[in-house]
Amino acid sequence: MPFNLWGHTLPEMEKWVLDQNFPRFRAKQIQDYLYKRHIFDIDAMKQLPETMRASIKSETILEKPVIMSSIQSNDGNTTKILLKLADGSLIETVCMHHNYGNSICVSTQVGCSMGCIFCASTRNGLERNLTAGEILAQVYAFKEIMDIPVHSIVLMGSGEPLTNYEEVLRFIHLCNDPGLLNISFRNITLSTCGIVPQIYRLADEKLPITLAISLHAPNDRIRNEILPVSRHFKIEDVIKAAGYYFKTTGRRVTFEYILIRNINASIENAEELCRLVGKMNCHFNLIPINGTEHIQLFPPTPNEIRDFQSLLEKHGKSTTVRKQMGDEIQAACGQLKRRYMANK
Ligand code: SAH
Repeated sequence: MPFNLWGHTLPEMEKWVLDQNFPRFRAKQIQDYLYKRHIFDIDAMKQLPETMRASIKSETILEKPVIMSSIQSNDGNTTKILLKLADGSLIETVCMHHNYGNSICVSTQVGCSMGCIFCASTRNGLERNLTAGEILAQVYAFKEIMDIPVHSIVLMGSGEPLTNYEEVLRFIHLCNDPGLLNISFRNITLSTCGIVPQIYRLADEKLPITLAISLHAPNDRIRNEILPVSRHFKIEDVIKAAGYYFKTTGRRVTFEYILIRNINASIENAEELCRLVGKMNCHFNLIPINGTEHIQLFPPTPNEIRDFQSLLEKHGKSTTVRKQMGDEIQAACGQLKRRYMANK
């Protein structure tokens, strides 16, 4: 496989440059062309001597996804793009423009094998893992089309990041690299459906990134119905792993909880949820379910949502109800891609 110029830290690029018998400082120049000036045509990298450009052209590839379409929500606060990878696979990325800055939600896999009943990304199973460079390119796609600063990254798009562990970790380091995005670890959130052994592994990396766990239920019976992969991991063990993550990294864990009427959103469910987490220092992000075409699941009424939230708060829990952003542009997991494929 030829060396892909895209998706490396400065030390990795330096190693390649030195291996090719070019001086070390050339690596920084290449990185600046790619990540600061967004120049991808090797011939336009005029600071590099002609011999080096010729060598790069014969020895390397520059493989980056192509932007197929982009749409913006009516209020302008959410932009979504569909990218085509070198092998023709399609992936989605969303940018949310918050008052504190731009947050980009990246996909970590093409498709997903987790099978959550509410999620459009998993309908056709897992196609493949994304490489760190392909995940990184999702962020740069927004920088290319909108030239925006990026405040935070959420690994919450299609796919289960903890089943693509090495590439996801490489991506997190690329985000933090001062020559690339220079984003602080604290502004990176990884969302997992709760792959217990991998949560311990991530905790032991001791990176101060935020861990979000898709809990979605107060007990194993309901959780197994919504989230088939949870049959492999007891809910109690997920909570213990979250406690370990907090103890090891000092970062409070967020529990994501999709509210689905008649399934997990009653007051009794909220009470059981409080008993489950006990005194753990954690945060709840309540997410009224976004309707998808394939399954008849509905959010509770605004009153029911408020009651659920109040009960958690009464027990001293910190909570937010996720703002619905970009509903009309199909921003929830995998929905734009499914529409695009259906129209073809
Ligand atoms: N596999 C990881 C990350 C991808 S899913 C995980 O399970 O956390 C991330 C989040 O997407 C879920 O927690 C949920 O908050 C959101 N999501 C997916 N489909 C949704 C839907 N139909 N309505 C609302 N949120 C949805």
